Amino acid sequence: MSDGQLAVIGVGSVGSMALWQASKLGIAPVGFEAVTPAHPRSAVGGDTRLFRMTYRGQHNLYPVLQLAERLWRQLEQESGQEILTQCGGLSIGETDGSYIPALLDSIRRTGARHEILDYAEMTRRYPQHRLSPDECGIFDPAAGFLRTDRAVLSAVELAQAHGAQVVKGARMREIREVSDGVRISTDTDSWTFDRVIVASGFGSGAVLPPFLQRHVHPKRLLLTWFTARDTKQFLPEAFPIFIRITGDRSLYGTPTVDGVTVKATLDGRGTTTPDAASIARELTAAEVEESVDTVQAFLPGLVPEIVRSDAYPDLWTSDSTGLLGPLPGSGRIYCATGFSGAGFKMSSALGAIAAAEALGRDPLVEGPDFLRPARFGTPD
Ligand SMILES: Cc1cc2nc3c(=O)[nH]c(=O)nc-3n(C[C@H](O)[C@H](O)[C@H](O)COP(=O)(O)OP(=O)(O)OC[C@H]3O[C@@H](n4cnc5c(N)ncnc54)[C@H](O)[C@@H]3O)c2cc1C
Repeated sequence: MSDGQLAVIGVGSVGSMALWQASKLGIAPVGFEAVTPAHPRSAVGGDTRLFRMTYRGQHNLYPVLQLAERLWRQLEQESGQEILTQCGGLSIGETDGSYIPALLDSIRRTGARHEILDYAEMTRRYPQHRLSPDECGIFDPAAGFLRTDRAVLSAVELAQAHGAQVVKGARMREIREVSDGVRISTDTDSWTFDRVIVASGFGSGAVLPPFLQRHVHPKRLLLTWFTARDTKQFLPEAFPIFIRITGDRSLYGTPTVDGVTVKATLDGRGTTTPDAASIARELTAAEVEESVDTVQAFLPGLVPEIVRSDAYPDLWTSDSTGLLGPLPGSGRIYCATGFSGAGFKMSSALGAIAAAEALGRDPLVEGPDFLRPARFGTPD
């Protein structure tokens, strides 16, 4: 006998949004979460995530980002909470380097709004960044930051108000299609649902079939925070989110959200980890040294001492893109995981696409084929 129409495995960034959207489709989905929604050892941890519409090398994500922006606004409207602060965003790099020309190429393909700021204009408008004359900035007016815990918990509360349930402390060990549905099992209990969405992020490797397990691996990502000498310069109205890739150095960050600390973190430094559930939270001496050196070189208005740091897991695919679509060989299991260090900004859209497609509704965006799990083959 079926326990319901839809189960969502993992109630984190993407799972919470899938639950919210599925509940609005008039069914009563059930979310199964190994710990609790938005727990601080998941990819939700660390207060904020960058949101931006201009994206190097991934112009085909643009329709997903457009949908995400609309759904963040809808989540704010329905919950009455401020979730996305669109304070603008800067991409900074050498005018003729590897980053800026590739970013401009993506922007041209999508038509995303942007402004090119040369060295003089950057220095005038954003003196917080110490640039060299061969660098420039691209301003994305739609960019900003998302308040992660608030986003996830708002979606969960709205879903519950529409009839969804959340089972906490339920770590799935097996997800298996059977003749009349999908059997999902923890160490002690089992349920059968008509359809299942796998949104268990860093923990998904264990429940995916072997042919997909080979294409995913968890990584450890750092976050570091610094204090400002003059906090006013780092408020959202003065200091857009930024990503700076210059030579072999890279840093990204947000304005202050607590009025004291500024997030400024080395970019692209995820390290593969065998056990996502128990990653080292302490930074190594080398990580501390590189973080401090880079902040000192790029942002002279920050005191070059780390005042807060932590490390969080996320699941990578072998092409760093994500898995969004039906599990090959299954008509009932849908994957929404593996978003490779970039998934939060679009999690509102990813959850909505997953809910609609898993339940056989009309597609919400055209052509996210590059995200389909089938690109990695079929079951052994
Ligand atoms: C430090 C850091 C910085 C980042 N910065 C950005 C950024 O600026 N912008 C951006 O867009 N993205 C960013 N990302 C990426 C983004 O945060 C992730 O891609 C996204 O949050 C992943 O969402 P998820 O739902 O797949 O995973 P999660 O949010 O981690 O949710 C997975 C949930 O599933 C649960 N779970 C795991 N295994 C099981 C199981 N077997 N059974 C039941 N439940 C299970 C977990 O407990 C967790 O709650 C960053 C990631 C990290 C770690």
